[in-house]
Amino acid sequence: MTADVNHMLGRADWLNTPGIQAVFSALELEGDQARVVGGAVRNTLLGHPVPDIDIATTARPETVMQRALDAGLKPVGTGIDHGTVTVISRGVPYEVTTLRQDVETFGRQAKVVFGRDWVRDAERRDFTLNALYSDRRGHLFDPLGGLADCLARRVRFIGDPDSRIREDYLRILRFFRIYAAYGEGDIDAAGRDACLRQRDGLRHLSGERIGHEMRRLLRAPLAAAALRMMNDSGLWEIATGGLARIEDYCALRGLAPFAPDVSDPELGLVVLGGFVREDLERICDRLRLSNAERNRMRTAWAAMKFLRQSADPTAPPPDARDMIYEFGRQGAVDGLLAHWAFRKAQGTPPPEDDWRELLERVRQAPLPAFPVKGADLIAAGHAPGPALGELLQKLETEWRASKFTLSKVDLVLRAGSSG
Ligand code: ATP
Ligand code: MG
Repeated sequence: MTADVNHMLGRADWLNTPGIQAVFSALELEGDQARVVGGAVRNTLLGHPVPDIDIATTARPETVMQRALDAGLKPVGTGIDHGTVTVISRGVPYEVTTLRQDVETFGRQAKVVFGRDWVRDAERRDFTLNALYSDRRGHLFDPLGGLADCLARRVRFIGDPDSRIREDYLRILRFFRIYAAYGEGDIDAAGRDACLRQRDGLRHLSGERIGHEMRRLLRAPLAAAALRMMNDSGLWEIATGGLARIEDYCALRGLAPFAPDVSDPELGLVVLGGFVREDLERICDRLRLSNAERNRMRTAWAAMKFLRQSADPTAPPPDARDMIYEFGRQGAVDGLLAHWAFRKAQGTPPPEDDWRELLERVRQAPLPAFPVKGADLIAAGHAPGPALGELLQKLETEWRASKFTLSKVDLVLRAGSSG
């Protein structure tokens, strides 16, 4: 098995680039060693894309800086106090971290001591499948027997789960996130129970850290299953301060064949936690979401509410162009999906074929643009002033009522020649 794994790693695209090989050559001087660790190795073995590469090394952070400079690479020392130097090689950043052994931990603040012991470095990582290393030729180093867990997609804590969680409560969220992203089968019961027992520790985490893991969890394929477990064990409420509409969220993820948007964290958070506007705002604050994320969520929420209010099952489906004119294309898509999920979870789903078509129209239809400007009315003899604004609004309403068919000429004629 190890021979196959070495072969797989040895052929990985990311390992066979002059860029990463230059980093290895720079680091592996005077008896120092370097190995790729964590996500890059795990993802390669599981056939997932490798978005970023972490390298562990025996070389000290200042030495890493110096050697990178000497090799003509670009070191950035932003995390140097924790032992991490970002080395940019051929435009690609590599996070290079000196082997560590934690002597003492206080929640997230670990007092870091640098070391040269690869097994100790592995032992302070979170899960066995994250403690796999590859050297520059793709040779696997597996000090804790994580390979079998990785290939079986089992997420298991390294060491005693309760004590590992107490060192860093973020590991609770990482446990569910890594399971949702890479796991298969039942979640590891010992890990789950420890998360449950230690749940109060989540209160010590900053909103940024919770938000970062939550976003990644929501993008993962098994997000619905993981969130259901988190909700059943009270973790969601502690992490976000509110209730999760888990059935709605499961229904949303069930719409994946029609809409990749269902794994967008913003839409997921609206469906899960944003049934009323106050809850939505609290989640945004709590998870320290960006303005762009908040705006998307608020628009999605407004579109969802609009559909919920007009949800007479006998009424015709909403008009696609009206939806995109009011909420923008993404807002309309989000609103439709959120409302569709809500109705599915209620046991009153809208007709699937009609809604798939509607979704398609919302994605394709040209964005309507109101054709009349104030200047057009002035040119037709209307006086500038507040009355002109009102007239424009009235014309816009008529134009919308005509399903955006009235032309500029039609509308200017309707306005008459004087206000
Ligand atoms: P991905 O980048 O896909 O999220 P990853 O495993 O690379 O996955 P990172 O957050 O980049 O995740 O962390 C890199 C490695 O550092 C992990 O694989 C793990 O070995 C270790 N690690 C990260 N966070 C923790 C933590 N809170 N506690 C212990 N080890 C951690
Ligand atoms: Mg990573």
